[in-house]
Amino acid sequence: MSSRKLSLLLKLIIITLVTGASSLGISLLLTTSGFEHLLGIIKPKSESAKASHNKLMSADAQNISPVTDQMNEVPKAFQGTIVYQGKLKANEKVIALTFDDGPSPKNTAQILEILKKNDVKATFFMIGQMVKYFPQVAKQVAADGHVIGNHTWHHWYRHMDLATAASEIDRTAEIIYKTTGEKTTLFRPPGGFLNNGLAEYAKNEKYAVMMWSEESGDAERRSPQVPGLVKNVLKYAKPGAIVLMHDGGGNRSKSVRALPGMIAGLKAEGYRFVTIPQLLEIQAQEKSVETAASPVVTNQEHPNQQLNHQ
Ligand SMILES: [Zn+2]
Repeated sequence: MSSRKLSLLLKLIIITLVTGASSLGISLLLTTSGFEHLLGIIKPKSESAKASHNKLMSADAQNISPVTDQMNEVPKAFQGTIVYQGKLKANEKVIALTFDDGPSPKNTAQILEILKKNDVKATFFMIGQMVKYFPQVAKQVAADGHVIGNHTWHHWYRHMDLATAASEIDRTAEIIYKTTGEKTTLFRPPGGFLNNGLAEYAKNEKYAVMMWSEESGDAERRSPQVPGLVKNVLKYAKPGAIVLMHDGGGNRSKSVRALPGMIAGLKAEGYRFVTIPQLLEIQAQEKSVETAASPVVTNQEHPNQQLNHQ
């Protein structure tokens, strides 16, 4: 079936369902939450559930006011580009853990605990509407010193016109800033789709479009069990790798249980953990060291080889 027919069919189904629904509540649920349900995003059931959850978060996060104006800026060379991993020297054993689709009340809080215990800093690509539903969790991520990236408002995959793409990204940037004080320059396209209008807009806005080099596999329909998730990450670990994991978009209890094993395994191999801006900064520094050193080396030993490097 062509995608045009498919979307027509979907519209028909939605219209049928909406008109069939007698209460306003049901029609609202259908029109606004279709994608959240596909994604498994869980909204807070009531204000009281939200309030009791907020009580669980630490006093630290409760007291944050978003006035820090913190800029986790990436080096100029990466702004407006697509990055899959840090290109580092083989002995530079750093790795970046990234968590997508949160903040979510249970999983994100558990992941934060594990990261804190292991003194690991990571990068969280947040969905705008999840930040709206769970602001205290987002605040806690920032309070713990992690970096926050933009993962759009709705997590749509479909092709978007410029105005929609702009709204998806700008609204998310705004709520992240208002909630946590972090001005993010990192964007991760939902589903890794680079051709639906979002990445193009993000590049024009000087975001670093962050893909990944390693998947834990935690969001696959038939995701591996905990030992399999750990094995996936350890198997492909290399200097500069960016690991994709999820703290939202469904039940991520396996990701939570796999995380301590991944961290321990990587530490045993000599890795240390960095945020995405730190990773890109290390690459930028290495490059500038090489550039500065090369004329001296080439002048003294191999004057003709300099050309080969250019
Ligand atoms: Zn996602």
